[in-house]
Amino acid sequence: MKREFAVIGLGRFGGSICQELSREGMEVLAIDNDEDKVNEFKNIASHAVIADSTDEASLKELGIKNIDHVIVAIGDNIQASILTTVILTDLGIKKITVKAQNDYHEKILNRIGANTVVHPERDMGKRIAHSIISNNILDYLELSDDHSIVEVKAGKRMVGKSVVELDIRANYGCNVVAIKQGKQINVSPGPTDVLYEGDILIVVGADKDISRFEKHLVIDD
Ligand code: ATP
Repeated sequence: MKREFAVIGLGRFGGSICQELSREGMEVLAIDNDEDKVNEFKNIASHAVIADSTDEASLKELGIKNIDHVIVAIGDNIQASILTTVILTDLGIKKITVKAQNDYHEKILNRIGANTVVHPERDMGKRIAHSIISNNILDYLELSDDHSIVEVKAGKRMVGKSVVELDIRANYGCNVVAIKQGKQINVSPGPTDVLYEGDILIVVGADKDISRFEKHLVIDD
């Protein structure tokens, strides 16, 4: 069964979500109060309509209550983003994802009942910062305010050593949850598994521990 989504705000972020969901064959109701934006999405989304999402009656008229998941991608107008989120929560929408502009906005959105708050510019900035520290840091994903998951290439100091020799858990407090060796993924690496050049490790831990692990073992001098 096709899942139904609504995307409110068709700027670069909302527009790309709308485009990707539609490409994946999902039913998407695209909403914006700007006629030109709506026209851009007429042939992309299942339905594209002009509406002001801060007007509860308009949202009701569009049948928003029947939608499984609503994405609020109004960026600059924080007041409109908050008001829209409040209306959607009041209407009992089960899943609401909202784009936050800054940390205060994020805090408020969490308080008023958004299920997921995304902060794409900040998160992408962090990911890029990590990847430019070293070619060996491939990806970085925040799990909470102080825990993350990183994808790293085995540094020179790791190659040829076994998991027990490196003892990343005891030495750095991080857990190696998987090792990718070419096309193979070892999801529960054992103590005797040896790391080879080009191996990729998926590591979870507290930010301060991951940082030490990266400095000592991942970043080649
Ligand atoms: P992005 O950062 O994703 O590029 P943007 O800068 O293009 O976004 P914003 O002004 O942040 O644009 O808002 C995103 C979209 O939300 C715009 O297309 C705007 O017309 C729309 N929008 C703003 N307020 C409302 C509203 N009350 N109801 C419906 N759409 C709205």
